[in-house]
Amino acid sequence: MSPIKVKFVDLGEHYRRIRDEILPVFDNLSLKGDYIMGEELKKCESNLAQYCETKYAIGVANATDALILCLKAMGIKEGDEVITPPHSFIATAGSIAAVGAKPVFVDVKEDYNIDADLIEKAITYRTKAIMPVHFTGRPADMDKIIAIAKKHNLKIIEDAAQAIGARYKGRKIGSLGDAACFSLHPLKNLHVHGDGGFITTNDDELYSKLMKLRNHGLKNRDYCDDWGYNSRLDNIQAGIVNVKLKYIDQWNKRRQEIAAYYIKELKHYVKTPEDLDSVYHLFFIRHPLRDKLQAFLLEHGIESKVHYPVLIHLQEPARRLGYKEGDFPVAENYIKELLSLPVHTELSDEQVKYVVEKIKFFCELYG
Ligand SMILES: *Cc1c(COP(=O)(O)O)cnc(C)c1O
Repeated sequence: MSPIKVKFVDLGEHYRRIRDEILPVFDNLSLKGDYIMGEELKKCESNLAQYCETKYAIGVANATDALILCLKAMGIKEGDEVITPPHSFIATAGSIAAVGAKPVFVDVKEDYNIDADLIEKAITYRTKAIMPVHFTGRPADMDKIIAIAKKHNLKIIEDAAQAIGARYKGRKIGSLGDAACFSLHPLKNLHVHGDGGFITTNDDELYSKLMKLRNHGLKNRDYCDDWGYNSRLDNIQAGIVNVKLKYIDQWNKRRQEIAAYYIKELKHYVKTPEDLDSVYHLFFIRHPLRDKLQAFLLEHGIESKVHYPVLIHLQEPARRLGYKEGDFPVAENYIKELLSLPVHTELSDEQVKYVVEKIKFFCELYG
């Protein structure tokens, strides 16, 4: 096997390019001893709200907590159901289970997002919310989802962990549902040095509940309105966001540039996405000989991944709810053929060309 020529991600290189701006954040805040719930976080929340074109942004410890806190703030609990796709990172459904509610899965469509046309069939008198995922950075079918939510009086919590900066019909992801949850995990398009996340909303009441919930339910230093949690975004992480946010559009644009090249070069060889309505946190292709293709690429020094090899409804805790193979045929068929190609901002044009060349070569060999 040849040495790795194209890494799936390159966080060290990502940091190296902005190191001079990041290091003083740590130094300045440490000299002040200003670690938790300070000015830096306030500035970060105001920057994120402005960026996402929402009234509010609330920094939290990670996107999983963001989802859980939103569910909690909306009063969703044991006995309730929340509709969500089976093809996502496990945390989407996990957050629903974490508040005692039941994740009710609805199959996906060609764009890998929840198939809105199947949602109404899954609604019962227990359904309280829909949790669409803007999977891979591509917005879900929000017009239909919003219409269904209105008709059935359901809340919408967007899992926007992969979709910072994406737009749906011109509107930034963040304000389409009642709340949107973003991740700042190191693998995401905008990331901090550890775990982090935030929630956006335009809803005054939800905002004030969430601000308390993430900080022990406290309304000020000493008085608590409700039981809460410790789920805050640290000032150092907030300071890193404040540095990096000015680059996110440029980074997303680079991802889209790479995606456009993959699509142009590969669309006659493998199944690719069709357009650029995505910030391409992930770039999926499909090929019937996926495992063989993945091994072939690695032999040529190219890393690729499968997101995520086990669909959520086939994970143990979901099977205990009664889910099984065959329940979601579209997702189950896609997952066998899916492969994520490297699409990070540090890739050079030569590396992207090399990936394309090797995939074409494979397809010419094996069809
Ligand atoms: C990463 C991710 C999460 C979880 O984010 P954390 O910040 O790691 O908790 C949730 N949903 C999706 C779709 C994700 O990609």
